[in-house]
Amino acid sequence: DVLYPSSSGSEVPLSDPPHNKELEKRTYYPRLIQTLKNVFRLQSFRPLQLEAICDAMEGLDVFVLFPTGSGKSLTFQLPAVCQDGVTVVVSPLISLIRDQHRALKGLGVDAEILVQEMSESDRSDLWRRLRGNGKPPSLLYITPERLELDGMRSVLTRLRQEGKLCRFVIDEAHLITDWGRSFRDSYVQLKTLKTVFPGVPISALTGTANPTVQSDIVSRLRLVIRQPYKLSHNRPNLDYDVRYKGKNVLGAIADWIKSTYPRDTGIIYCSSRDKCEEIAKILRDKFQLSARHYHAQMADTDKSHVQREWSSGKVRIIVATVAFGMGIDKPDVRYVIHHSLPNSLNGYYQETGRAGRDGKLAHCILYYNRPDFHTRLSMIRNQPSKENRTFEEDDIRRVMSYVMNDVECRRKQVLSFFCEDFDPARCRRMCNNCRDATPCVTEDHTGDAQRALRLFENLSRDSRLTPTQLSAALKGSKAQLQVERGWTNDPLHGTCSHLSQDVIDRLIDQMIWHDFLSIRTERSQDAYSQNYLALGSRANALRTGQQNLTISFRAGRKGTARAQQKPDSRAAHDVAPDEGPSTVPLRSIPSAV
Ligand code: ADP
Ligand code: MG
Ligand code: ZN
Repeated sequence: DVLYPSSSGSEVPLSDPPHNKELEKRTYYPRLIQTLKNVFRLQSFRPLQLEAICDAMEGLDVFVLFPTGSGKSLTFQLPAVCQDGVTVVVSPLISLIRDQHRALKGLGVDAEILVQEMSESDRSDLWRRLRGNGKPPSLLYITPERLELDGMRSVLTRLRQEGKLCRFVIDEAHLITDWGRSFRDSYVQLKTLKTVFPGVPISALTGTANPTVQSDIVSRLRLVIRQPYKLSHNRPNLDYDVRYKGKNVLGAIADWIKSTYPRDTGIIYCSSRDKCEEIAKILRDKFQLSARHYHAQMADTDKSHVQREWSSGKVRIIVATVAFGMGIDKPDVRYVIHHSLPNSLNGYYQETGRAGRDGKLAHCILYYNRPDFHTRLSMIRNQPSKENRTFEEDDIRRVMSYVMNDVECRRKQVLSFFCEDFDPARCRRMCNNCRDATPCVTEDHTGDAQRALRLFENLSRDSRLTPTQLSAALKGSKAQLQVERGWTNDPLHGTCSHLSQDVIDRLIDQMIWHDFLSIRTERSQDAYSQNYLALGSRANALRTGQQNLTISFRAGRKGTARAQQKPDSRAAHDVAPDEGPSTVPLRSIPSAV
């Protein structure tokens, strides 16, 4: 069953519609095209770029939600170059500011940055220009903290009064909401921009925002937009595959690379610095592959040397930690292989997103096994700093349930993380689940869901629960927290112990999906947000049996509820000895609720 050519080169058409031809009639359109070609050296607009650019040219606020790498910057850079006055770009990271500055300078654009580490003469030059001695730059990049400083405010106020303050741009605008964990104080202060600088339009840009975050950004910044511009996170040219990680995983990886992409470049991600070095060495010495390692502890000169060699194609394979990637813009990366579990689904999306930027077919393969998962969990639990522990634990569990869900389209699963409802038919068998011809078995878990709901209601009377805590309670966990809070005394504690933890997690996911349960994000005193479960608006439909709940499995595959009740059915598959419990107590499942 050959689904795609094994060599690179098949062009996958993008499904996004071309821009509205009406926009080409705008009086400023010829200038846009000219600047696009002559200054930015680009040939045409990508989807929704022109729409956002036209709104900016007309002085409107703009909201842009495009996935990373799809070209958000042009939506404000092009108008900034075409209009008079200065466009102030607020960006969270000095390194991002420097990258954009360097790129713009390379194109001959009048862009400036104001950062701590800059020469005294550059700094005073810039201040002179901002104070009206000479023309202010077209673009000024700063961090949000700097925008709060009095000196900056008064200079910008003056510019506004003189009609020379063109626009504010908020890059990574999701940082303004406290719904995510990446909340940042000085970003929150940006909500005053409309009052402090009335009449100055704002562009808000982000690559990740669920619907709550989207509306929060728009309302906090008080944006008045024509319409939000959103592109799907779907990357149609990426093939997603999840594979079991056996003993000879490196041999399997080497074989796959040699037979599929012998002459192309790729990235192999792994979890630790030592692993990177070790794997790169094995790939070189044992498999004669052109591989080098890359991680954060290397000297800067070594890092940029390796990166250059890889970018130029001299080195084909880079074996790296997640430190590798930010600002990598190599268009023809043909594969991204995860030798170990990514930290989160978001991370997985970002890391795999480095493949196939040229729009041509590229492969993403994720290797997993349970021991890796457990190691990661215990590392998270044992780390000294408590702050992000629950988050990290939730993240890695979501990765694991992604990996274990061998039925649903991989794209659908990844995109649901971004709250996109993806129609699996659009995958066109570009993931291992859509390709898998093994029949699916659908089991009714309505009874389990009803009891899960009752247990949730019992336990949540006295304290709030996270999804992870409910999952553990359903499994019958005797963990300290469960005992301390008296949860283990509930007659329904352990009511789903006949199911594997993964199935229980999928059950809870589905309950949230159907709105029997809902998620409430709350900030605790120490400013970290936490996801708690709450009753969903359709809980009653489950209670009364109006709505049932089913879960699908591949027939006879390990890890399913059915296979766990009949351990011998696992024999057909190569089950690693260390994977999962080998015997599961057989007990009758109470069917009445
Ligand atoms: P984002 O901020 O959305 O992650 P960027 O604005 O940094 O993405 O753009 C990513 C890459 O896409 C850059 O290399 C940029 O030059 C390129 N790019 C942007 N717009 C176009 C276009 N219309 N045609 C070709 N390349 C483009
Ligand atoms: Mg960007
Ligand atoms: Zn699919």
